[in-house]
This record gives sequence, structure tokens and C-alpha cells, in this order.
Amino acid sequence: MKKFTVIGNWKLNGNNNFVDKFIIKLKKYFLDNPIFYKIVLAPPLLYVHHFTSNIREKNFFIGAQNVDIHISGSFTGEISVDMLQDNGIKYVIIGHSERRKFHHESNEIIAKKFSLLKQRNMVPILCIGETLEEKKQNKTQLICSKQIDDILKYVGENAFKNSIIAYEPIWAIGSGYSATAREIQNINNFIKNYISDYSNVKRNEIITQYGGSVDDLNIEEFFMQDDIDGVLLGGASISLHKFIKILQLIHNLKI
Ligand code: PEP
Repeated sequence: MKKFTVIGNWKLNGNNNFVDKFIIKLKKYFLDNPIFYKIVLAPPLLYVHHFTSNIREKNFFIGAQNVDIHISGSFTGEISVDMLQDNGIKYVIIGHSERRKFHHESNEIIAKKFSLLKQRNMVPILCIGETLEEKKQNKTQLICSKQIDDILKYVGENAFKNSIIAYEPIWAIGSGYSATAREIQNINNFIKNYISDYSNVKRNEIITQYGGSVDDLNIEEFFMQDDIDGVLLGGASISLHKFIKILQLIHNLKI
């Protein structure tokens, strides 16, 4: 059966009322549709406990949207890998283009976060991808390989064992225009070949996902591609209706 992971990134959205409704709906959905794939939901950290204390489903995990590069100390507003681990969180999104842009995170900072997560046996979900300008200049492979190289240089040859790479072209995020299934398949194939050529990790151990305007209209086509091992949802993960519909469509595609 195809291995697939659906990651939901809530970003700065949600409140107690929404979380309560979400949990009730999701629990009911899981009762009727046991999930054969994985779901990782990354709400704002204040709501993690609501989820972990209410949903016990083998393939459902709560993730984090960020982590700090420090372990402890005078770093107001930050959360460490140990705090996440202490609260049962294993999956952490890093390198999201919004953090690169609004929080000025460099590839070096992202590599430090990646390294800390690996040291704790946690799973980094590394977002990489090009801008529209770079796409027009045919630089997608170049940009992705550079972002991968910076991780390999810092973390070493085993970096991408038990890690997730989410190809997220910046122009597709929140725009309503996703990359085509063929474009994603090609770049994910490139990413897998690149990492297996330049590191110790075998091609079949590398997990490549896609994020950028995924919804209930394109999920089935993405699911069918050999090298799309999952999707990262932004907008569709905070629409209860769309989220459940996407889960249902994947469920129906059980292959
Ligand atoms: C994202 O922000 O990572 C994302 C994929 O967003 P959206 O699904 O809304 O394009």
C-alpha cells in the first residue's frame, strides 16, 4: 500500500471554539474511517494539549510549526526541541518560506534546527522551493539542490534518513495556483536522485512531499504520483470541510 502523509499547517489561525469543533469532527471521522496513512497536524502550540488529550489515533500526530536553535536560556518567546519532545511532539516544520521571509531565517539557521531535531531523533519537515522569478528562469532544480546541500554540509550524510522534504514552490503557497502533478513528480524525482547520489541515504528511504494550494480538487492526482509521498496543507487544513473531504478522497484511493 502506498505510504502517504498529510501534514496540516495551521499557521497563526484557530481559537478554542474552532479547535473544539475540529476535534469533535475529526474523532467522528476516525471512528468511521480508520486511517491507513499518516496525519500530522501543526496547530499553534497553545492548542497542542487540546488535541493530544482528546484524540488517540495510531496514525495521527501533532507537529510544531517551528523550533528555536537554542536549548534553553534567555531567548524570550522561543520553544526548544526538548520542550517539544517533552510534550510528545516528533514532527517539526522548518524552513517554511514564511519563516525565511518574515523572520529572516537563513539556510544556516534552518540547518542548525534540522541538526538539533536529528540529534533528538525527531522528524524535520524541511520546506524548500523556488520563487516565481526563479521558476521563470528555470532555476527550480538549482534552488532546491542548494537548499539540500546546505543541510547536507551541516548535518552530514545521513541527514535525510527519517526526515521529510516538502517541495513548496513559494508562488504556489496560498495563491490558489498549485504546481502541476507532472512538475511536482519531476522535481521530487530529481530531489530523491540528488540526495541518494550525494549522501548515504538510499532513494527508497527518502520522503518527498508537496505543498502549495493543495485542495480537494487536486489531491487525487497528486496522490497517484510515485514520488509524491504526501502533501502539506495550509489553507485547506483550517477549513474543516475541505480537510475532511481531502481525507475522505485519500481514503477512497486506498491502493
Ligand atoms: C503552506 O503554507 O505551506 C501551504 C502549503 O499553504 P497553502 O496550502 O495554503 O498553499
